[in-house]
Amino acid sequence: MKQDRSMDEVPAYFSELGRLRMLGGDAALDFANTRHWRDGREIDFLTGYRALIDWAVVAGLLSRAEHDRLRDAEAIMPLQAADVFSAAVRLRDIWKIYLAEATRTELPTDLSQPLDAVRHLVTKALGAPLAIAGLPADTLAGADMALSLARTALAIGAFLALPHAGTLRMCEADPCGGVFLDTSRSQKRRWCAMDSCGNRVKAQRHRLRMKAEAVEPPKR
Ligand SMILES: [Zn+2]
Repeated sequence: MKQDRSMDEVPAYFSELGRLRMLGGDAALDFANTRHWRDGREIDFLTGYRALIDWAVVAGLLSRAEHDRLRDAEAIMPLQAADVFSAAVRLRDIWKIYLAEATRTELPTDLSQPLDAVRHLVTKALGAPLAIAGLPADTLAGADMALSLARTALAIGAFLALPHAGTLRMCEADPCGGVFLDTSRSQKRRWCAMDSCGNRVKAQRHRLRMKAEAVEPPKR
């Protein structure tokens, strides 16, 4: 993600739950952000296998052609698809636990336990093929259904293993739970996006200030 790109240009996944922009700066972080707080309630954008593969295209983890083959195969292999979806949600939730610990600022934490849990699931997911073989018209094998999960695991593995630009942070808007890479020169990015979480925090502070002024006794 280029730093000077305006937030409107960030790719976004659209579903009946709303818009989910890829604000993490890395597909692994965008995966964690598929579940986060918005307007006081937690929203899970991963609602099923179809949502997983739709999201994976926007996140850059599946090509449109791969997506279409997987979508068609879901009708033939619904049980395999359901298993892949469950495994993806498990990986996402463990990954979020790790990221919450890794971005904690108050106390030094021991990351070894959540990290082991993430690594275990990543290794398991990487047992599936990382590419679909054959022509578009060919029937997919059961193991191919896990392509989006394997690619996501690859992104998480790469995030953990490779150096990345920027600092890993959690959005300061409360509650939000969004994570991102702060690649700003000043290293002071505090929110997923200024036009959403940033504005919400500012409006909240304004309301509190107005309330505090309203209850002050009148001056004589
Ligand atoms: Zn946020």
